[in-house]
Amino acid sequence: MYKSPRGTADILPEDQHYWRHIETRAMEIGRLYGYQRVDTPVFEEAGLFTRSIGEGTDIVTKEMYVFKDQSGNNLALRPEGTAPVCRAYLEHGMANITQPVKLYYFAAIFRYERPQAGRYRQHYQFGCEAIGEAAPTLDAEVIDMAWRFFILLGLKGITLQLNSIGCKSCRPKHLEVLRRYYTAEVSGLCADCKTRLEKNTLRLLDCKKPFCQDAAEKAPKSSDYLCQECGDHFESVKKYLDILNIPFQVNHRLVRGLDYYTRTVFEVHPPEEAAQSALGGGGRYDNLIEQLGGKPTPAIGFATGMERIVLNLKRQEVFVPEIPSPKLFIACLGDEAKLIAMRLASDLRQQHISVLMSSGGKSLKAQLRQANDFAVDYAAIIGEDEIKNHAVTLRHMATGEQQTIPVDKLAQLLG
Ligand code: AMP
Repeated sequence: MYKSPRGTADILPEDQHYWRHIETRAMEIGRLYGYQRVDTPVFEEAGLFTRSIGEGTDIVTKEMYVFKDQSGNNLALRPEGTAPVCRAYLEHGMANITQPVKLYYFAAIFRYERPQAGRYRQHYQFGCEAIGEAAPTLDAEVIDMAWRFFILLGLKGITLQLNSIGCKSCRPKHLEVLRRYYTAEVSGLCADCKTRLEKNTLRLLDCKKPFCQDAAEKAPKSSDYLCQECGDHFESVKKYLDILNIPFQVNHRLVRGLDYYTRTVFEVHPPEEAAQSALGGGGRYDNLIEQLGGKPTPAIGFATGMERIVLNLKRQEVFVPEIPSPKLFIACLGDEAKLIAMRLASDLRQQHISVLMSSGGKSLKAQLRQANDFAVDYAAIIGEDEIKNHAVTLRHMATGEQQTIPVDKLAQLLG
């Protein structure tokens, strides 16, 4: 028997109401903040990601699903949602329309990671990107949007972590002191961090290994090395969050896993912490559009993993409405009744009433048992008498009450 590939999961019917709940709330948040939906392909040229996410990042070096197609094109399954949206922004001339351009997406994301609770090799993200505006009011708005989204979903006890990792002009100084600091600590670092010291120094700060965590706690802070503009920007973001009544903690170790981030970075965490627990995160990426061949264009975005939201909704026992089961089950006795039932089912569906139909051949008792299992509100029974009278016997499943209803009155009664 085949199984779904390691690190992937089927989303079964009994869980679908969580997913629809998240999508509905996400679209509502998108509408409230003036975002439009965009859908990009599941795969892109691999270069789009190596160039934007960064050659030295875990995603590019270890986690990307890269393959060649029949023509030898070097492609990758999307390992994150921002670069494709920026590619679409540039490709479709969105740089020439009024800025900022605000886009949201739902996307399957692929990363070859070590699977564990809340961490998959294929997961889904809801994300949003606001491109073409540098003002810190936009940072605060995007953080507000993320925050309100989780609250709208019904999640409790979430926390927000915030940091600024500076820009092209001030980050090199921070990296230099960081490298010097870590070089002195190198003997105790884990193997991954030893490599990071050369290739991706900032990521040393968010290693989860005990020694490295300890070292990161004492490491030079990016916020102490910000240039005037980045410092002012960070102060403004914090001030606006205060005005918006959004509590936050500055976390000097928060750097995010992708190279393209600049200035503001943030993450939202659920109350029950685990190593892989971030519900969502994002930040500014003021150089990315230019890196991808556009004009210098500031931007900021946010993404959240839908599986982790489902996990937390369940953990917190948040009430999520079930998807309603069909309204009516048609039970029929005999061949003629079956033909009438078929036509009736089709008529009712055309009037937007959801109907299940028995394939006949079973006893009435067996058919009503089926109706019960399908959790319908009503069963309509069609037998010889009903055919004669152009009627059905309508049974209310919860009470067992039955009444005879003319066939042409049924839609009105159920609608
Ligand atoms: P990132 O693109 O790494 O910033 O991730 C954004 C969000 O996606 C995270 O906060 C998680 O909620 C979710 N996420 C990231 N990686 C995974 C994964 N491997 N499995 C499930 N969810 C993930």
